[in-house]
Amino acid sequence: MGTPLPSRAEQTEEVVERLWEEYPDATISLNFSNRLELLVAVMLSAQCTDERVNKETEDLFEKYQSAEDYAEADVEELSEDIGSITYHNSKADYLKTSGQIIVDEHDGEVPDTMEELTELKGVGRKTANVILQHGYDLVEGIVVDTHVQRLSRRLGITEEERPEAIEEDLLPVVPEDEWKWYTHLLISHGRAVCTARNPDCSECVLADICPSAKGDSDVDLASGEAWDA
Ligand code: SF4
Repeated sequence: MGTPLPSRAEQTEEVVERLWEEYPDATISLNFSNRLELLVAVMLSAQCTDERVNKETEDLFEKYQSAEDYAEADVEELSEDIGSITYHNSKADYLKTSGQIIVDEHDGEVPDTMEELTELKGVGRKTANVILQHGYDLVEGIVVDTHVQRLSRRLGITEEERPEAIEEDLLPVVPEDEWKWYTHLLISHGRAVCTARNPDCSECVLADICPSAKGDSDVDLASGEAWDA
């Protein structure tokens, strides 16, 4: 029976512990070898799979190696260079404009504060958090992507709906030293087992504590709708 632990903090702790056992190597799946590459990869990954981004950045990172390279790029050529990425026209514009800001205001280095990062074009709080966590080892929050949003709701850890509200709700219940890893653990589980359309509850290590577990619950708490709807 999917019965969550009595408090959200206990539920979260148990989820994190079990997922670490399942995914001991959980981490960011984008390829990068420096902060600029990290920034570019994360910007490209919005609404696009990490797999596709990794494929496209193999050549891109050879061709564009500095913020100046992006700042001086021909935006149409840059758009073609990332042609397989979702919204490549807008993203080419973001890359060029952000390259210009980095050159003009940050001596060509990717900035290291939330405020400065979110001033770059196409960089919101989520992207900035990823850069801070994986580029600078500065953990100021929890990255809430679509997997974190879905699983946190399914598991009864939050009832909030919007990513910003979910992050605020999670901060007090996820232990601070797990803020960075909570994201990657839930992404790993969201990809492997607890997929959006057809989660494999019968194979899930969290089924006994998950209030959405199929068979026990008629309702997917992520959507609030019946599983078969
Ligand atoms: S796979 Fe099923 S049991 Fe496991 S977390 Fe997702 S909804 Fe819950």
